[in-house]
Amino acid sequence: MILTRRSFGSLIATAAASRLAPAAPLQDPGRKIGYCIVGLGRISMQHFMPATRMSRRSKVTAIVSGHRDKAEKWAADYGVPARSIYSYENYDAIADNKEIDAVYIALPNSMHAEYSIRAAKAGKHVLSEKPMATSVADAQAMVDACRKANKKLMIAYRCQYEGTNQRAIQLIRDGKLGKIESIESSNGFNIKAGEWRLNGKLAGGGPLMDVGIYSLNACRFLTGEEPVELKGYSSVIDHDGRFNEVEENLAWTMRFPSGVIASCNTSYGASLPGFYRVHGTKGMMHVEPAFGYQGLRLTANISGEPPIDEPNPEKDPAQFPREADHLADCILENKEPKTAGEEGIKDMKLMMAIYKSCGRA
Ligand code: NAD
Repeated sequence: MILTRRSFGSLIATAAASRLAPAAPLQDPGRKIGYCIVGLGRISMQHFMPATRMSRRSKVTAIVSGHRDKAEKWAADYGVPARSIYSYENYDAIADNKEIDAVYIALPNSMHAEYSIRAAKAGKHVLSEKPMATSVADAQAMVDACRKANKKLMIAYRCQYEGTNQRAIQLIRDGKLGKIESIESSNGFNIKAGEWRLNGKLAGGGPLMDVGIYSLNACRFLTGEEPVELKGYSSVIDHDGRFNEVEENLAWTMRFPSGVIASCNTSYGASLPGFYRVHGTKGMMHVEPAFGYQGLRLTANISGEPPIDEPNPEKDPAQFPREADHLADCILENKEPKTAGEEGIKDMKLMMAIYKSCGRA
Protein backbone atom coordinates (compact mmCIF):
# COMPACT_ATOMS: atom_id res chain seq x y z
CA MET A 1 0.00 0.00 0.00
CA ILE A 2 1.40 3.37 -1.06
CA LEU A 3 0.71 6.11 1.47
CA THR A 4 -0.54 9.10 -0.49
CA ARG A 5 0.61 12.71 -0.39
CA ARG A 6 -2.96 13.55 0.66
CA SER A 7 -2.85 11.44 3.87
CA PHE A 8 0.46 13.07 4.83
CA GLY A 9 -0.91 16.50 3.88
CA SER A 10 -3.68 16.07 6.43
CA LEU A 11 -1.14 15.07 9.10
CA ILE A 12 0.88 18.20 8.40
CA ALA A 13 -2.25 20.36 8.47
CA THR A 14 -3.20 18.86 11.85
CA ALA A 15 0.25 19.56 13.27
CA ALA A 16 0.23 23.12 11.94
CA ALA A 17 -3.20 23.79 13.43
CA SER A 18 -2.01 22.59 16.84
CA ARG A 19 0.82 25.10 16.76
CA LEU A 20 -1.75 27.85 16.16
CA ALA A 21 -3.79 26.95 19.26
CA PRO A 22 -4.10 29.90 21.63
CA ALA A 23 -1.65 29.86 24.54
CA ALA A 24 -2.98 28.83 27.94
CA PRO A 25 -2.11 31.14 30.85
CA LEU A 26 1.07 30.19 32.68
CA GLN A 27 0.46 28.52 36.03
CA ASP A 28 2.47 28.47 39.27
CA PRO A 29 5.64 26.70 38.03
CA GLY A 30 6.65 25.57 41.54
CA ARG A 31 3.68 23.34 42.22
CA LYS A 32 2.98 19.66 41.43
CA ILE A 33 0.40 18.66 38.85
CA GLY A 34 -2.49 16.64 40.29
CA TYR A 35 -3.41 13.54 38.28
CA CYS A 36 -6.78 11.81 38.36
CA ILE A 37 -6.16 8.11 37.66
CA VAL A 38 -8.87 6.75 35.37
CA GLY A 39 -9.01 2.96 35.68
CA LEU A 40 -7.36 0.90 38.41
CA GLY A 41 -5.77 -1.82 36.29
CA ARG A 42 -2.25 -3.21 35.94
CA ILE A 43 -0.58 -0.23 34.30
CA SER A 44 -1.98 2.31 36.74
CA MET A 45 -1.66 0.29 39.96
CA GLN A 46 1.66 -1.45 39.32
CA HIS A 47 3.52 1.25 37.40
CA PHE A 48 2.06 4.74 37.01
CA MET A 49 0.79 5.36 40.54
CA PRO A 50 3.95 4.05 42.30
CA ALA A 51 5.97 6.17 39.85
CA THR A 52 4.31 9.38 41.02
CA ARG A 53 6.05 8.85 44.39
CA MET A 54 9.38 9.26 42.51
CA SER A 55 8.27 12.21 40.41
CA ARG A 56 9.38 15.87 40.51
CA ARG A 57 6.15 17.50 39.45
CA SER A 58 3.31 14.95 39.61
CA LYS A 59 1.04 13.54 42.31
CA VAL A 60 -2.15 11.48 42.48
CA THR A 61 -5.08 13.63 43.61
CA ALA A 62 -8.12 11.62 42.46
CA ILE A 63 -9.20 8.16 41.31
CA VAL A 64 -11.91 6.91 38.95
CA SER A 65 -12.95 3.29 39.34
CA GLY A 66 -15.97 1.04 38.99
CA HIS A 67 -15.06 -0.62 42.31
CA ARG A 68 -15.54 1.74 45.26
CA ASP A 69 -13.88 -0.52 47.87
CA LYS A 70 -10.77 -0.99 45.72
CA ALA A 71 -10.66 2.74 45.00
CA GLU A 72 -10.89 3.56 48.72
CA LYS A 73 -7.94 1.29 49.49
CA TRP A 74 -5.76 2.88 46.81
CA ALA A 75 -6.96 6.37 47.71
CA ALA A 76 -5.91 5.83 51.33
CA ASP A 77 -2.50 4.66 50.16
CA TYR A 78 -1.97 7.80 48.07
CA GLY A 79 -3.55 10.34 50.43
CA VAL A 80 -6.51 10.94 48.11
CA PRO A 81 -9.59 12.16 50.04
CA ALA A 82 -12.85 10.19 49.71
CA ARG A 83 -14.49 13.18 47.98
CA SER A 84 -11.98 12.74 45.12
CA ILE A 85 -13.02 9.16 44.31
CA TYR A 86 -15.28 9.01 41.25
CA SER A 87 -17.16 6.31 39.36
CA TYR A 88 -17.46 6.15 35.57
CA GLU A 89 -20.99 7.56 35.99
CA ASN A 90 -20.13 10.71 37.97
CA TYR A 91 -16.76 11.19 36.20
CA ASP A 92 -17.83 14.55 34.70
CA ALA A 93 -17.92 15.98 38.23
CA ILE A 94 -14.10 16.13 38.09
CA ALA A 95 -14.80 19.54 36.50
CA ASP A 96 -15.49 20.88 40.01
CA ASN A 97 -12.32 19.48 41.59
CA LYS A 98 -9.51 22.03 41.59
CA GLU A 99 -7.02 19.43 42.84
CA ILE A 100 -7.21 17.71 39.44
CA ASP A 101 -5.09 19.26 36.68
CA ALA A 102 -4.86 16.24 34.39
CA VAL A 103 -6.28 12.76 33.91
CA TYR A 104 -4.28 9.59 33.23
CA ILE A 105 -6.43 7.32 31.03
CA ALA A 106 -5.55 3.67 31.69
CA LEU A 107 -8.68 1.99 30.36
CA PRO A 108 -9.22 -0.54 27.54
CA ASN A 109 -8.29 1.05 24.21
CA SER A 110 -11.77 1.85 22.90
CA MET A 111 -12.54 3.87 26.06
CA HIS A 112 -9.58 6.26 25.70
CA ALA A 113 -11.44 8.62 23.37
CA GLU A 114 -14.61 8.97 25.44
CA TYR A 115 -12.80 9.54 28.75
CA SER A 116 -10.25 11.90 27.18
CA ILE A 117 -12.97 13.99 25.54
CA ARG A 118 -15.04 14.12 28.75
CA ALA A 119 -11.90 15.20 30.63
CA ALA A 120 -11.18 17.99 28.14
CA LYS A 121 -14.80 19.16 28.45
CA ALA A 122 -14.30 19.15 32.24
CA GLY A 123 -11.31 21.47 31.76
CA LYS A 124 -8.58 18.89 32.44
CA HIS A 125 -5.38 18.06 30.56
CA VAL A 126 -5.05 14.48 29.25
CA LEU A 127 -2.36 11.80 29.37
CA SER A 128 -3.80 8.84 27.45
CA GLU A 129 -2.30 5.38 27.30
CA LYS A 130 -1.41 3.87 23.95
CA PRO A 131 -2.87 2.97 21.53
CA MET A 132 -4.45 6.42 21.48
CA ALA A 133 -7.83 5.09 20.30
CA THR A 134 -9.37 2.36 18.18
CA SER A 135 -10.08 4.49 15.08
CA VAL A 136 -8.51 7.50 13.40
CA ALA A 137 -11.83 9.36 13.79
CA ASP A 138 -11.79 8.84 17.58
CA ALA A 139 -8.14 9.89 17.76
CA GLN A 140 -8.93 13.05 15.79
CA ALA A 141 -11.90 13.74 18.07
CA MET A 142 -9.54 13.58 21.08
CA VAL A 143 -7.20 16.11 19.47
CA ASP A 144 -10.11 18.38 18.53
CA ALA A 145 -11.69 18.24 22.00
CA CYS A 146 -8.43 19.07 23.77
CA ARG A 147 -7.65 21.86 21.32
CA LYS A 148 -11.15 23.33 21.74
CA ALA A 149 -10.78 23.24 25.54
CA ASN A 150 -7.22 24.62 25.26
CA LYS A 151 -5.89 21.58 27.18
CA LYS A 152 -2.77 19.51 26.56
CA LEU A 153 -3.10 16.02 25.12
CA MET A 154 -0.18 13.63 25.47
CA ILE A 155 0.00 9.95 24.46
CA ALA A 156 1.97 7.79 26.91
CA TYR A 157 4.74 6.67 24.53
CA ARG A 158 6.98 5.66 27.44
CA CYS A 159 9.95 4.62 25.27
CA GLN A 160 10.34 8.09 23.81
CA TYR A 161 11.19 9.39 27.31
CA GLU A 162 13.53 6.52 28.19
CA GLY A 163 17.34 6.68 28.21
CA THR A 164 18.34 3.55 26.24
CA ASN A 165 15.94 4.39 23.41
CA GLN A 166 17.17 7.99 23.41
CA ARG A 167 20.76 6.75 23.24
CA ALA A 168 19.84 4.55 20.26
CA ILE A 169 18.36 7.56 18.46
CA GLN A 170 21.47 9.62 19.26
CA LEU A 171 23.86 6.97 17.89
CA ILE A 172 21.90 7.01 14.62
CA ARG A 173 21.67 10.82 14.42
CA ASP A 174 25.42 11.10 15.15
CA GLY A 175 26.06 8.86 12.15
CA LYS A 176 27.82 6.19 14.23
CA LEU A 177 26.15 3.38 12.27
CA GLY A 178 26.75 5.12 8.93
CA LYS A 179 23.81 5.27 6.54
CA ILE A 180 20.86 3.27 7.90
CA GLU A 181 19.76 0.50 5.53
CA SER A 182 17.26 -1.62 7.43
CA ILE A 183 15.55 -2.26 10.77
CA GLU A 184 14.10 -5.45 12.24
CA SER A 185 11.81 -5.40 15.27
CA SER A 186 9.40 -7.65 17.13
CA ASN A 187 7.22 -7.60 20.24
CA GLY A 188 4.67 -10.20 21.29
CA PHE A 189 3.39 -12.53 23.98
CA ASN A 190 1.23 -15.61 24.34
CA ILE A 191 -2.06 -14.20 25.61
CA LYS A 192 -4.39 -15.88 28.12
CA ALA A 193 -8.05 -16.37 27.20
CA GLY A 194 -10.57 -13.98 28.76
CA GLU A 195 -8.59 -10.73 28.37
CA TRP A 196 -10.39 -7.59 27.07
CA ARG A 197 -7.44 -7.45 24.64
CA LEU A 198 -9.14 -10.27 22.69
CA ASN A 199 -12.44 -8.38 22.45
CA GLY A 200 -12.49 -6.61 19.08
CA LYS A 201 -14.72 -3.77 20.27
CA LEU A 202 -12.70 -2.94 23.41
CA ALA A 203 -9.24 -3.53 21.94
CA GLY A 204 -9.82 -2.31 18.37
CA GLY A 205 -7.39 -4.91 17.09
CA GLY A 206 -4.97 -7.55 18.32
CA PRO A 207 -1.25 -7.55 19.07
CA LEU A 208 -0.53 -4.80 16.51
CA MET A 209 -2.58 -2.26 18.51
CA ASP A 210 -1.26 -3.51 21.85
CA VAL A 211 2.43 -4.38 21.46
CA GLY A 212 3.27 -4.17 17.75
CA ILE A 213 2.74 -0.42 18.14
CA TYR A 214 6.08 -0.31 20.03
CA SER A 215 7.94 -1.60 16.95
CA LEU A 216 6.01 0.75 14.66
CA ASN A 217 6.67 3.78 16.85
CA ALA A 218 10.35 2.78 17.24
CA CYS A 219 10.88 2.51 13.46
CA ARG A 220 9.49 6.03 13.17
CA PHE A 221 11.53 7.54 16.00
CA LEU A 222 14.73 5.72 14.99
CA THR A 223 14.57 6.88 11.37
CA GLY A 224 12.91 10.21 12.14
CA GLU A 225 10.89 9.52 8.98
CA GLU A 226 7.35 8.53 8.07
CA PRO A 227 6.85 5.38 5.98
CA VAL A 228 5.74 5.89 2.38
CA GLU A 229 4.81 2.28 1.65
CA LEU A 230 3.81 -0.73 3.70
CA LYS A 231 2.56 -4.30 3.41
CA GLY A 232 1.14 -6.57 6.08
CA TYR A 233 0.22 -10.22 6.60
CA SER A 234 -1.84 -11.64 9.43
CA SER A 235 -2.81 -15.14 10.45
CA VAL A 236 -4.63 -17.21 13.05
CA ILE A 237 -3.03 -20.56 13.86
CA ASP A 238 -4.65 -21.39 17.20
CA HIS A 239 -8.37 -21.92 16.65
CA ASP A 240 -9.05 -22.16 20.39
CA GLY A 241 -11.53 -19.28 20.66
CA ARG A 242 -9.02 -16.56 21.54
CA PHE A 243 -8.73 -15.15 18.03
CA ASN A 244 -12.33 -14.93 16.87
CA GLU A 245 -12.21 -11.12 16.90
CA VAL A 246 -8.55 -10.09 16.66
CA GLU A 247 -5.50 -11.31 14.74
CA GLU A 248 -3.06 -13.76 16.32
CA ASN A 249 0.07 -13.04 14.26
CA LEU A 250 0.90 -10.02 12.17
CA ALA A 251 4.03 -9.21 10.18
CA TRP A 252 4.55 -6.05 8.21
CA THR A 253 7.19 -4.25 6.20
CA MET A 254 7.64 -0.53 5.64
CA ARG A 255 9.70 1.57 3.25
CA PHE A 256 10.83 4.99 4.40
CA PRO A 257 11.69 7.95 2.11
CA SER A 258 15.45 7.47 2.62
CA GLY A 259 15.08 3.87 1.43
CA VAL A 260 15.30 2.28 4.90
CA ILE A 261 13.28 -0.95 4.94
CA ALA A 262 11.76 -2.09 8.24
CA SER A 263 10.39 -5.56 8.91
CA CYS A 264 8.34 -6.10 12.05
CA ASN A 265 6.53 -8.98 13.75
CA THR A 266 3.95 -9.10 16.49
CA SER A 267 1.97 -11.94 18.05
CA TYR A 268 -0.51 -12.96 20.74
CA GLY A 269 0.35 -16.62 20.12
CA ALA A 270 4.03 -16.67 21.03
CA SER A 271 6.44 -14.80 23.23
CA LEU A 272 8.42 -12.60 20.82
CA PRO A 273 11.30 -10.62 22.29
CA GLY A 274 10.71 -6.87 22.37
CA PHE A 275 13.72 -5.78 20.36
CA TYR A 276 15.01 -3.79 17.43
CA ARG A 277 18.13 -4.22 15.34
CA VAL A 278 19.35 -1.37 13.16
CA HIS A 279 21.71 -2.11 10.27
CA GLY A 280 23.86 0.69 8.92
CA THR A 281 26.76 0.94 6.48
CA LYS A 282 29.24 1.20 9.36
CA GLY A 283 27.71 -1.19 11.87
CA MET A 284 24.78 -2.82 13.62
CA MET A 285 22.95 -1.82 16.81
CA HIS A 286 20.78 -4.24 18.77
CA VAL A 287 18.48 -3.12 21.60
CA GLU A 288 16.91 -5.97 23.59
CA PRO A 289 14.86 -5.65 25.66
CA ALA A 290 13.92 -2.38 24.01
CA PHE A 291 10.34 -1.91 25.21
CA GLY A 292 10.25 -3.48 28.71
CA TYR A 293 9.86 -1.70 32.01
CA GLN A 294 13.44 -2.49 33.04
CA GLY A 295 16.56 -4.42 32.04
CA LEU A 296 16.98 -2.61 28.70
CA ARG A 297 20.26 -3.27 26.93
CA LEU A 298 21.94 -1.66 23.93
CA THR A 299 24.79 -3.37 22.11
CA ALA A 300 26.48 -2.25 18.91
CA ASN A 301 29.28 -3.39 16.65
CA ILE A 302 30.70 -0.51 14.69
CA SER A 303 33.59 -1.06 12.31
CA GLY A 304 36.90 0.25 13.65
CA GLU A 305 35.49 0.91 17.15
CA PRO A 306 35.35 -1.16 20.36
CA PRO A 307 32.04 -3.02 20.80
CA ILE A 308 29.33 -1.15 22.74
CA ASP A 309 27.50 -2.99 25.51
CA GLU A 310 25.27 -0.80 27.68
CA PRO A 311 22.89 -2.54 30.10
CA ASN A 312 20.50 -0.06 31.68
CA PRO A 313 20.41 -0.56 35.48
CA GLU A 314 17.18 1.40 35.96
CA LYS A 315 14.43 -0.45 37.84
CA ASP A 316 10.68 -0.32 37.19
CA PRO A 317 8.78 2.04 37.60
CA ALA A 318 11.54 4.56 36.86
CA GLN A 319 10.36 5.11 33.27
CA PHE A 320 6.95 6.38 34.32
CA PRO A 321 7.77 9.56 36.31
CA ARG A 322 9.43 10.91 33.17
CA GLU A 323 6.23 10.82 31.16
CA ALA A 324 4.11 12.11 34.06
CA ASP A 325 6.59 14.94 34.66
CA HIS A 326 6.90 15.72 30.95
CA LEU A 327 3.19 16.49 30.76
CA ALA A 328 3.45 18.38 34.08
CA ASP A 329 6.29 20.48 32.61
CA CYS A 330 4.22 21.13 29.50
CA ILE A 331 1.23 22.25 31.57
CA LEU A 332 3.25 24.46 33.91
CA GLU A 333 5.46 25.94 31.18
CA ASN A 334 2.82 25.98 28.44
CA LYS A 335 4.73 23.74 26.02
CA GLU A 336 3.48 21.16 23.55
CA PRO A 337 4.12 17.55 24.68
CA LYS A 338 6.76 15.70 22.67
CA THR A 339 4.24 12.89 22.06
CA ALA A 340 1.12 15.00 21.55
CA GLY A 341 -2.10 13.68 20.04
CA GLU A 342 -0.75 14.21 16.51
CA GLU A 343 1.96 11.60 17.20
CA GLY A 344 -0.72 9.11 18.23
CA ILE A 345 -2.76 9.86 15.09
CA LYS A 346 0.25 9.03 12.90
CA ASP A 347 0.48 5.55 14.44
CA MET A 348 -3.29 5.11 14.26
CA LYS A 349 -3.30 5.89 10.52
CA LEU A 350 -0.41 3.51 9.91
CA MET A 351 -1.98 0.69 11.95
CA MET A 352 -5.23 1.08 10.01
CA ALA A 353 -3.22 0.98 6.75
CA ILE A 354 -1.46 -2.20 7.95
CA TYR A 355 -4.82 -3.82 8.78
CA LYS A 356 -6.15 -2.79 5.35
CA SER A 357 -3.11 -4.32 3.69
CA CYS A 358 -3.78 -7.56 5.64
CA GLY A 359 -7.39 -7.52 4.44
CA ARG A 360 -8.60 -6.96 8.01
CA ALA A 361 -10.13 -3.47 7.64
P1 NAD B 1 -6.12 -3.87 32.76
O1 NAD B 1 -7.09 -4.86 32.23
O2 NAD B 1 -5.16 -4.33 33.79
O3 NAD B 1 -6.90 -2.61 33.35
C1 NAD B 1 -8.00 -2.03 32.69
C2 NAD B 1 -8.81 -1.18 33.66
O4 NAD B 1 -9.97 -0.70 32.98
C3 NAD B 1 -9.31 -1.97 34.89
O5 NAD B 1 -9.25 -1.11 36.00
C4 NAD B 1 -10.77 -2.25 34.53
O6 NAD B 1 -11.59 -2.41 35.67
C5 NAD B 1 -11.14 -0.99 33.77
N1 NAD B 1 -12.31 -1.14 32.91
C6 NAD B 1 -13.33 -0.26 32.83
N2 NAD B 1 -14.24 -0.68 31.96
C7 NAD B 1 -13.82 -1.86 31.49
C8 NAD B 1 -14.36 -2.79 30.56
N3 NAD B 1 -15.52 -2.56 29.93
N4 NAD B 1 -13.66 -3.91 30.33
C9 NAD B 1 -12.47 -4.14 30.91
N5 NAD B 1 -11.91 -3.29 31.81
C10 NAD B 1 -12.58 -2.16 32.09
O7 NAD B 1 -5.38 -3.26 31.51
P2 NAD B 1 -3.94 -2.58 31.45
O8 NAD B 1 -2.94 -3.59 31.08
O9 NAD B 1 -3.70 -1.75 32.65
O10 NAD B 1 -4.11 -1.66 30.14
C11 NAD B 1 -4.84 -0.42 30.20
C12 NAD B 1 -4.35 0.49 29.06
O11 NAD B 1 -2.97 0.75 29.25
C13 NAD B 1 -4.46 -0.15 27.67
O12 NAD B 1 -4.84 0.84 26.74
C14 NAD B 1 -3.06 -0.64 27.37
O13 NAD B 1 -2.74 -0.63 25.99
C15 NAD B 1 -2.23 0.38 28.10
N6 NAD B 1 -0.94 -0.17 28.57
C16 NAD B 1 0.18 0.56 28.40
C17 NAD B 1 1.40 0.07 28.82
C18 NAD B 1 2.63 0.90 28.68
O14 NAD B 1 3.71 0.43 29.01
N7 NAD B 1 2.52 2.14 28.24
C19 NAD B 1 1.47 -1.18 29.43
C20 NAD B 1 0.30 -1.90 29.63
C21 NAD B 1 -0.91 -1.38 29.21
